[in-house]
Amino acid sequence: MKSVQSVRGMHDLLPDQSMLWRGIEHTVREVLDCYGYREIRIPVLEKTDLFVRAIGNATDVVEKEMYTFEDRNGDSLSLRPEGTAGVVRAAIEHGLLHVPGLKVWYHGPMFRHERPQKGRLRQFHQFGVEVFGIEAPAVDVELIALGERLWKALGIGGRIRLEINSLGSPESRRTYREKLVEYLAGHEDQLDDDSRRRLKSNPLRIFDSKVSRTRQIMADAPRLTDSLDEDSARRFDEVRRLLDALGIAYRINPGLVRGLDYYCETVFEWITDDLGAQGTVCAGGRYDGLVEIQGGRATPGIGFAMGVERLVELVSLEDAQFPTRPAVYIVCAVDPEHGLALAEEIRNRCPGLEVACDLSGGSFKSQFKRADRSGAGKALVLGEDELADNMVVIKDLRGETAQQRLSLDEAAGVLAR
Ligand code: ATP
Ligand code: MG
Repeated sequence: MKSVQSVRGMHDLLPDQSMLWRGIEHTVREVLDCYGYREIRIPVLEKTDLFVRAIGNATDVVEKEMYTFEDRNGDSLSLRPEGTAGVVRAAIEHGLLHVPGLKVWYHGPMFRHERPQKGRLRQFHQFGVEVFGIEAPAVDVELIALGERLWKALGIGGRIRLEINSLGSPESRRTYREKLVEYLAGHEDQLDDDSRRRLKSNPLRIFDSKVSRTRQIMADAPRLTDSLDEDSARRFDEVRRLLDALGIAYRINPGLVRGLDYYCETVFEWITDDLGAQGTVCAGGRYDGLVEIQGGRATPGIGFAMGVERLVELVSLEDAQFPTRPAVYIVCAVDPEHGLALAEEIRNRCPGLEVACDLSGGSFKSQFKRADRSGAGKALVLGEDELADNMVVIKDLRGETAQQRLSLDEAAGVLAR
């Protein structure tokens, strides 16, 4: 019978990669902890309307990327394509926004029906961070500083750069939109089909086009940063002043518009040139209107999300390995009862040591072959003689140290070192 395959664009994380993933996830959590952000866990499924309202009808995500279906009650549900909408829903639902200064992070799978390719999956993973109730531009900069610390902690600081922009207030964005549409109307016949369609629905998104003729036209388009009202301009200046004060390098990219409707004011992306076309590792910005759109009391908000798959790829380019646990492999030539008991005893005495026990009962030779393949540094050998004398043989699988015959106490001492 033909075997069933996984869904296109939805990948398994296999054992040879899982330690790397865990190492990265651990580092991310540690950095988030040291900024005092708390984890929030939200469901993978939400009502479709939540995403339509938050992300916007005329966005790629809602228009063509969501996994939407009717459940058995006839309700329209969607697999979450991103985390912010759900976090906002949960924060309103549980009254978390009554106290200003809520700082949370989430982690987990997201789902988008995109064309699968390198760096683009249909199930992918994000870590995301959200702050509510603080309007000060200093928060924008704290989030950016957190990102910068994270890349350093992951050893990929040299591969990632920061781009920022300001989308201004919703009002200044509307004024700008008119200017942009007017400019583009003069070039409509030279735009690609997708961009021509966006001209009506979401003209700012034309900045994201990858079509070279369209890009040339956009390079000469009026700039959003020139249309900012006074408040937004002052705000953006303050963000830049604080970034400079912290010594964080950035480039202003006037074409940085972000794909989701809810963004305003500061937006930013962390980008790498080392992963080919999908170079945005982390992206975010302010969404001061979002809580109100979701039915809560007007509350400023800002957040970002990073793609874990892209981070893993970047970290894999570095030689730096995450430390793996030291390991010992028990070669047992007697009744498995004794092998199991020895393994438990070593786990009791050497917490944190990875102990594998060969339970196959094969020959010494085949067990040693497996011990070698397991990557363990040392083997503990338990044969008839050792059992009779209450001893074990400890053997260095990697170095040149001669094997030793030791009591259990002595062996545990060697392993604990
Ligand atoms: P892109 O321009 O790459 O489509 P986006 O604007 O759709 O990005 P966001 O919604 O801002 O992306 O998501 C934040 C991050 O999540 C991205 O920078 C990326 O690292 C990751 N990401 C988004 N979509 C995917 C995907 N389909 N597969 C893998 N990672 C993704
Ligand atoms: Mg996208």
